[in-house]
Amino acid sequence: MGITANSVWKNCLAFIKDNIQPQAYKTWFEPIKPIKLAENALSIQVPSKFFYEWLEEHYVKLLKVALTKELGETAKLVYIIRMENTYGNKEPFTEKIPSTNRGNMGPQEMDVPIKSKNPELKNPFVIPGIRNIKIESQLNPNYNFDNFLEGDSNRLARSAGMAVANKPGGTSFNPLLVFGGVGLGKTHLAHAIGVEIKDKYPERTVLYISAEKFTQQYIESVKKNTRNDFIHFYQLIDVLIIDDVQFLSGKSGTQDVFFHIFNHLHQNGKQVILTSDKAPVDMQDIEQRLLSRFKWGLSAELQSPDYETRVSIVKNKLYRDGVEMPEEIIDHVAKHIKTNVRELEGAIISLIAQSSFNKKEVTLELAQQVVEKFVKNTKREVSIDYIQKVVSDYFEMDVATLQSKTRKRHIVQARQLAMFFAKKFTKASLASIGSQIGKRDHATVLHACKTVDNLAETDKQFRKYIEDLTKKFT
Ligand code: ADP
Ligand code: MG
Repeated sequence: MGITANSVWKNCLAFIKDNIQPQAYKTWFEPIKPIKLAENALSIQVPSKFFYEWLEEHYVKLLKVALTKELGETAKLVYIIRMENTYGNKEPFTEKIPSTNRGNMGPQEMDVPIKSKNPELKNPFVIPGIRNIKIESQLNPNYNFDNFLEGDSNRLARSAGMAVANKPGGTSFNPLLVFGGVGLGKTHLAHAIGVEIKDKYPERTVLYISAEKFTQQYIESVKKNTRNDFIHFYQLIDVLIIDDVQFLSGKSGTQDVFFHIFNHLHQNGKQVILTSDKAPVDMQDIEQRLLSRFKWGLSAELQSPDYETRVSIVKNKLYRDGVEMPEEIIDHVAKHIKTNVRELEGAIISLIAQSSFNKKEVTLELAQQVVEKFVKNTKREVSIDYIQKVVSDYFEMDVATLQSKTRKRHIVQARQLAMFFAKKFTKASLASIGSQIGKRDHATVLHACKTVDNLAETDKQFRKYIEDLTKKFT
């Protein structure tokens, strides 16, 4: 007789029963019904969402072990939640949710050599004064390889990432630089590599950090006179993941310190993983010696996903959220939202939300409305006029004042910010930016961009302006 959902579940129960308290067994396992077994995934029905959450929180490991014993390493568990229909019509409905099987990332302990000259080595992530070095990896376990779907657009980057995860520091992909436009999965992939390494090599110290946070920590360390501690801390990491390195552009102090850290790690066979919104050749204001390091390993591009990949990303998203939608709707969304994965997900989330708030079914009309909104938003490119308007509003002045010849400091700063954002968010040349923002020449614009970069490094208030304004343009 072949194996069935019933027989598999019966054996699992026997194993579970031996391993937990009788009361817990009675409460949490007896009410479960095995429903089906397909493609090595066992679907079990649980009475409520709370029940499912409890199982996932307390028994996921046990379930995993039991299931692996029965079905092998590739076993999957799917929960089916039977709920009374809250909209008061017809049948109770069910919701399907796959098991995560992944615990949260615990802190990593690291031995600091006793002979180290810095017995009080500062961990920039903790409050000063704490001696014990516990490093949170800062990894998000929800960004993993399982849910990073493969397609032509990401195959190279994904498989290079896998190779690195299998042998961190032991491939020629060091550093691995993943680059591509916004919302194409750089951050997701960077985490996935780290998460996979922690799974395979729990003893390695992995650290994920955005280049922006790295920069802030560095600036802090300079202020507090702990620059060396900062460097030493980073030199102890086995796998260093820095997200959005384009952020380092123009920040020579941070680049310098990163250069030293990078060399140390690389020489010691440690793995470095970087992401960037552009290829190394297109990066501006990054020191040559650093750029040449970036090119040592492999630069792999993430491109916009093709139609098939978009469909599978949408389906996977729905599956994970336990929602079902007709094919024609999935197709409509995948056909029209092409540029990036974040928007694709955004459209789906918005659809799910609208249908549940308004308690209506997801219809093609609703999908069309949502998609239209998304497509429109994407097309709205930021113009230099728009930038000047937003910056002027932010500083409560009018555009004419921003463009005027005055040397008053706050007006000059506003103008420089407008130039900076125009360079950042439009494709306009320096000369054209200058002529549109108060008839200045290209050297003025260049100077403005440099000034903004410098102030961003040294002036907290100014950094806040940049952050606030950046939010308005992205
Ligand atoms: P980036 O860092 O390049 O701007 P993110 O990594 O933040 O992009 O990705 C944006 C969203 O798209 C995230 O929610 C991510 O999980 C999702 N995503 C991107 N690529 C994929 C993929 N190949 N499979 C599944 N989800 C993806
Ligand atoms: Mg990102």
